Amino acid sequence: MGQPQVSSLSSEQRRKKDFEYKIEDEWWKKFSAWRDVSKEEFLDWRWQYEHLINSPEKLFRVFHWLSEEEKKEIVEVSKVYPLLINPYYLSLVNPNDKFDPIKMQCIPSKEELIDKASPEDPLAEESDEVVPNLVHRYPDRALYITTNFCATYCRFCTRKRILGKAIVSGVSSLQKIVDYLKQNKQVHDIVISGGDPLTLSNKDLEKILSELSAIDSIDTLRLGSRVPVTLPMRLFDEELLELLEKYSDLLWLNTHFNHPNEITEVSYLAIKNVLKLGIPVNNQTVLLKGVNDDVEVMRKLMLSLIKIKVRPYYLFHCDPTKGIRHFRTTVWKGLEIMEGLRGHISGLAVPTYVIDAPGGGGKIPIMPNYIISMSEERIVLRNFEGSIVSYDPTGRALTKKENQRFEGIISLLEGSFDKIDSLDSERIKRRKSTSKSS
Ligand code: SF4
Repeated sequence: MGQPQVSSLSSEQRRKKDFEYKIEDEWWKKFSAWRDVSKEEFLDWRWQYEHLINSPEKLFRVFHWLSEEEKKEIVEVSKVYPLLINPYYLSLVNPNDKFDPIKMQCIPSKEELIDKASPEDPLAEESDEVVPNLVHRYPDRALYITTNFCATYCRFCTRKRILGKAIVSGVSSLQKIVDYLKQNKQVHDIVISGGDPLTLSNKDLEKILSELSAIDSIDTLRLGSRVPVTLPMRLFDEELLELLEKYSDLLWLNTHFNHPNEITEVSYLAIKNVLKLGIPVNNQTVLLKGVNDDVEVMRKLMLSLIKIKVRPYYLFHCDPTKGIRHFRTTVWKGLEIMEGLRGHISGLAVPTYVIDAPGGGGKIPIMPNYIISMSEERIVLRNFEGSIVSYDPTGRALTKKENQRFEGIISLLEGSFDKIDSLDSERIKRRKSTSKSS
């Protein structure tokens, strides 16, 4: 008998081997502007803040190959919708790809100025603002907008209206928020969002977490942050990690990876630091035209998230916000993607596709139709392969009739047929080849 096969890869190596951007490769040095930047500097979030790219001129020093026309476009757009990118996130761009998915998410494009008609606040968050910076829409949850600053301004942001204005800290309204929550004990769950709450100072974040966690009726604090994607080294800060650990009983982290290229060794290590504290991490992806509106890209993204122990939670249909219309796909595209995920990859990796109803109607789940027909006794369903089954919810066995005649879906509803298999499916072929075909 041979020796049992033992994998030569440790689990750490197994995780790392797939990352396109590995720390030891020092990928940022492909940009001449950062050729002399050491690993210690580049992985320090303070260095990243000190070198923020917040003007077209600073961007052109890194992207010096842009044409005059492209530069002019960026200058014009950033006057309306400001530009802010940190070196880490910009370094993930492949300079040879005109349609690079990271570039599309952070570099201004002229399409942002085309749309003059869409609302700036399509979800009517401002109408549901009960005290400054607190949006109370759902019965037991509320949204706390803690800042209008982010580690990178995403071009598709649904809160584009608040980005780039003078930085307003939501901490100043904390006392009013606490008073409101104490009087409205039906609220158990606070989404701490922004902007990005992990760009707040540790001191401000501590203030928020300590005040909110001291309210008896609050059970859950959800940090909504893109920092694990755009500035993951912030989560290497020991002081911040100690602070998060202190409130870990209540905390969840909801982050926002949109493309597999955003999952790097640095973001992996950042997520790992959070998971070690006992804080679960979920992901909310936005469906974006030209970035991730493709079944293969989405499968890779969802499976890569699972590999770093991040649970795909939502796939958002892009909101009809002014300035982001060019990112919007059809709903059919979203359904096609869900069709390509459900059943084809692990259920753990399949998010819920939702449309955020305009005007504040909340999230509405959308999915391909798996129910074909229904009678009082039976439901006719189809599976991901296209096979159609007749299902009796009471679990009774089918009473097959004499002289069966297939007359379409009605035969399945009457119970004279139990299924129509998709003969071309891999599963059926596999069964046949192992003689297990029914
Ligand atoms: S990090 Fe979030 S809030 Fe900030 S710009 Fe991006 S999507 Fe908007």
